[in-house]
Amino acid sequence: MPIPFDPPPSPTPDEFPMAGPIAPVDHKVYQLPDPQRYALDQERQRHIEALYRLGEYAMFVLMWNLRDFDKGLVTRCSTCWGADASMKRRTAEVYKQAEKNDCPDCFGTTFEGGWKAKIIRPSLWDFGEDLDADGRRGQTITSAAAVQSTHDFQMHTGDYILRGDGNRWRVSSMSSIHLRVGFEVPLAERNIIAFNFGQAMREDESSPSYSLTPDTTGLREILDVTRPRFPLDLTDFEDFRDGAILLDSYETPRVGEA
Ligand SMILES: [Zn+2]
Repeated sequence: MPIPFDPPPSPTPDEFPMAGPIAPVDHKVYQLPDPQRYALDQERQRHIEALYRLGEYAMFVLMWNLRDFDKGLVTRCSTCWGADASMKRRTAEVYKQAEKNDCPDCFGTTFEGGWKAKIIRPSLWDFGEDLDADGRRGQTITSAAAVQSTHDFQMHTGDYILRGDGNRWRVSSMSSIHLRVGFEVPLAERNIIAFNFGQAMREDESSPSYSLTPDTTGLREILDVTRPRFPLDLTDFEDFRDGAILLDSYETPRVGEA
């Protein structure tokens, strides 16, 4: 059907008596296209294929955060935040900070246990040059990298990524890629192709992240697979705390339980 030269006139207020005092819409557009779900599915599939074609397995260690705490999924760390009703706890509540940083039990998150999930996903890395950094642990040599992974979980700043060479990275900034496929409000679960598209900094070996299991030897054995040819089932090496959710926007089935 040829596209009409001029779109049909907008309805007049008389045709919509319920519109009341609000001015009638007078935006001349030819059509509002339906969202094209297939385009999103295809783009997600291409992204996953790119991850497996040029990427590598990595272990993503998702840490408890304030959102989880506000939802009641986790409690404060009893080591650095103090036991219930203790003076230490009350002091921490007032000042909204723990007695010490780098708590070995919660990895500095102030939430019980520190991590909520360890999952293995394909990842694609783009590395920067080494940087000399002056930090609270003295001068260290670090490196920044852009990293991306699949859309079925959500990383936050402060999460860790453990690579198959034994190096550990801390997520420093996050973004996600949406694909607009029609006229609608974009929602995380609807439109995201790659949830996890962000910057990570390599951790110095003095970082508490090095006490996260598995150790370097274990990481190499699990993640450094040569020529797997097909995606491997690595769920045996994954771990979830009770109540852990992988996406903030809605609860998603855990890997292997879908
Ligand atoms: Zn702690």
